[in-house]
Amino acid sequence: MLRAYKYRIYPTEEQKVLFAKTFGCCRFVYNWALNLKITAYKERKETLGNVYLTNLMKSELKAEHEWLSEVNSQSLQSALRNLDTACTNFFRNTKTVGFPRFKSRKDRQSFLCPQHCRVDSEKGTITIPKAKDIPAVLHRKFKGTVKTVTVSMTPSGKYFASVLVDTAIQELLTTPVENDTALGIDLGIKSLAICSDGRTFGNPKNLQRSLDRLKLFQKRLSRKQKGSANRNKARIKVARLQEHIADSRKDNLHKITRSLTHDSQVRTICMEDLNVKGMQRNHHLAQAVGDASFGMFLTLLEYKCKWYGVNLIKIDRFAPSSKTCGKCGCLYKGLKLSERSWTCPECGTHHDRDLNAACNIKEFGLKALPSERGKVKPVDCPLVDDRPRVLKSNGRKKQEKRGGTGISEAAKSLV
Ligand SMILES: [Zn+2]
Repeated sequence: MLRAYKYRIYPTEEQKVLFAKTFGCCRFVYNWALNLKITAYKERKETLGNVYLTNLMKSELKAEHEWLSEVNSQSLQSALRNLDTACTNFFRNTKTVGFPRFKSRKDRQSFLCPQHCRVDSEKGTITIPKAKDIPAVLHRKFKGTVKTVTVSMTPSGKYFASVLVDTAIQELLTTPVENDTALGIDLGIKSLAICSDGRTFGNPKNLQRSLDRLKLFQKRLSRKQKGSANRNKARIKVARLQEHIADSRKDNLHKITRSLTHDSQVRTICMEDLNVKGMQRNHHLAQAVGDASFGMFLTLLEYKCKWYGVNLIKIDRFAPSSKTCGKCGCLYKGLKLSERSWTCPECGTHHDRDLNAACNIKEFGLKALPSERGKVKPVDCPLVDDRPRVLKSNGRKKQEKRGGTGISEAAKSLV
């Protein structure tokens, strides 16, 4: 199985210069190829392939710009390959994947070394072509062969090396789906995750906590003269704070997903397939949804489930998980966003909103499975959309057209 290990590196001044050159050259080649692709398509309706562009870069672009030969040529080629993948992904799914954008020198920078990389755990260094023994903090050991190394620099100026390793670790086999070992998870903003067994994981609201400071730093940055040294200092302050927010958010999500996938009592996890983009179109929720980062939660949970042999079942995003009574199954349509708990009009059971939703998600997930459970991958069988589609006003229709559906049920379970 391939696994990536990311280490902080502390390059020497000389190595920093080389990195800066490589970042620049890779970005230049990427943007050059993207521009060619766009013009070729606009003018002649032609699609330029990766091989053609690589050859063109080797023959023409390098002759034109000699400084391109100063850096690792394989890194330049992999930049073109990245562009090719980006385009393929876009054309495979034009609705959810955006068209590749031009790279800017202000964003995160990176380049990939596909060959001749070494990690020396005794010396604590990483070696890539043209840069020997880069000091690194190898906080985690690995067994296996090094495939590639990607060097990156954050906007605040920290360097990282992501080492892709072909490990001997085998993925664990999944066990059959059973009611006793299944767990339903409802994601929310008040508590980040509510489990059907009563466990809750709090939402640290990392952005909210640092928002005042971030606003202050951004205001200071905006008042500095463009191109000045002081502006750069202010820019780094903003970047550092934003990285701090992102890091603490990621840390929390890793801890939650790890504890969920390492629970011996849990072999199946049922989750809602949230439409995060759709939810963020709602201006009142956008910041809170982004801060909770449900998308990343799902990504982390997905791969950890795969690694540790846990079944992951995604239920349909329109399944009425909050409004259904977990006891008698009646649908309480009048449930408002603000109601944290409600009483079922049919059987009189008093429900906690989130816990009820989590239990329903578990039920839906288990029901979604076909009778022959072994044959179909659980992830691929969502529940049938039985939500009545009543369009009341034009505004709602427009939202539907823009693909903004999926807000309603998901958003309601959040607040
Ligand atoms: Zn009921």
